[in-house]
Amino acid sequence: MQERLAYNEKISLLRDDEYPMLKGITYLDHAGTSLYSKSLIDAFSREMMSQVLGNPHSTSTSALNTSQRIQDVRIRALKLFRADPEHFDIIFTANATAAIKLVLEAFAGYKSGFSYRYHRDSHTSLVGGRELASRSQCFASDTEVEMWMNRRRRCSLLSLFKTKKSHTNPSLFAYPAQSNMNGRRLPLTWPSKLRNSSHQNAYTLLDAAALVSTSPLDLSDHTTSPDFTVLSFYKIFGFPDLGCLIVRKASAHVFEQRKYFGGGTTEMVTVSPEQWFVRKENSLHERMEDGTLAIRSIIALGCAIDVHERLFGGLDKISTHTGFLAKYAYSILEGLRYENGRPVCQIYKGERSTYGDQITQGASIAMNLLHSDGSWISSSTVQKLAKTKDIHIRTGSLCNPGGMAQTLGLGSVEIKRAFAEGFRCGQEADVRAGVPMGMVRISFGAMSTVDDIEMFIQFLREEFVDSGGEGVGEKGVGGSSSQAESCDLKA
Ligand SMILES: *Cc1c(COP(=O)(O)O)cnc(C)c1O
Repeated sequence: MQERLAYNEKISLLRDDEYPMLKGITYLDHAGTSLYSKSLIDAFSREMMSQVLGNPHSTSTSALNTSQRIQDVRIRALKLFRADPEHFDIIFTANATAAIKLVLEAFAGYKSGFSYRYHRDSHTSLVGGRELASRSQCFASDTEVEMWMNRRRRCSLLSLFKTKKSHTNPSLFAYPAQSNMNGRRLPLTWPSKLRNSSHQNAYTLLDAAALVSTSPLDLSDHTTSPDFTVLSFYKIFGFPDLGCLIVRKASAHVFEQRKYFGGGTTEMVTVSPEQWFVRKENSLHERMEDGTLAIRSIIALGCAIDVHERLFGGLDKISTHTGFLAKYAYSILEGLRYENGRPVCQIYKGERSTYGDQITQGASIAMNLLHSDGSWISSSTVQKLAKTKDIHIRTGSLCNPGGMAQTLGLGSVEIKRAFAEGFRCGQEADVRAGVPMGMVRISFGAMSTVDDIEMFIQFLREEFVDSGGEGVGEKGVGGSSSQAESCDLKA
């Protein structure tokens, strides 16, 4: 505890200089994006002023120099996740979503089609992948995933003759390492379990975007690592706006199926009379990075890795610090009561998750607030009030359609009916027929401190507890705490 508070004190001191934009602001939306430091912007500015950066597709001195710089950052980005360049390649993309699309685009190139399976807790960008698949399935729980993995494929007479793996239609299993809704962490053992299962030609796509924002990711054992890992760097460093796809080289052959080719990814192209082309031969990233790279952003990533390490002492330290903050916030929110003894917050925690345990829970808390009579307060009302105190939080549907629906007990029928009645995600007054259709999420980052939590709690006390939760927004009927408890994530 002493150690935790000492580190917290260190961050508080550093914040004045490094994050001057946070003065007077309580920023609790790091799962949306984290914030960049002054040192990072200064270092980037110095880099930009000290050299000419050419287009790596040229061969001038500046171009060659730029290529070398980019290559260096590639290696350092892989090292950040302890991924050996011998076994992994990194493809820079605009964001995690673009990286997901690259993988799905490759699978969509299989003539036989492919099956897509995804976990219910997936981000919208992962859910969207199903539209490219010939068959898709959503796993409603971790147990369903494990049952599927443990299932033995029946050995038919036909399959005895199909000895080559490629004869089975490929299948892709996608899941988030951490839910962007409530921060619950999912097992990182699944990629190797699937690889060792009886499922042939099955690959794993790990969406690590939420996880790596406050946690290390260890890809040091390539035999147990996901085939494809995607993330966004701005969620770790606040800058640059850049994402990546990390590919296990043993699975890189999947990208041979990708149809499209863009500038810079080919050795040669003809257009007439024959339409012929050959993709770049040296490396996977050369074949995959369409058009000019985000040169300046990649250079900035190099600065970000350096500065972040210097300020915070690495992702391990950030993980411990933010885990401590989330646990502290959770314990206070959980205990917050009205005078009549009823709870102020209904927190949506994963069943198997424990705040403070890095394996099962990240630094986010998803919840809804209640009036003192047990009826729900609309998340948009909470947002409106938070704005008056310069508190920055995320409210609404949080880009996690499956997790939200399950947690709030909404079926497709209810959601489609609400849509037909004119309701849209992110709309005000999102308590419908006594059921909330949105949530309030707070999330912590490397530069969050205990003071941010105190500010949020003080806000809840002033706006809700002290007034008995009366006079804030419209009333939804129902939502007694016993009903609310049954909404806890069935993990
Ligand atoms: C933020 C996030 C994404 C999307 O990232 P973009 O940068 O918007 O592409 C995907 N999955 C998870 C789990 C996220 O937290």
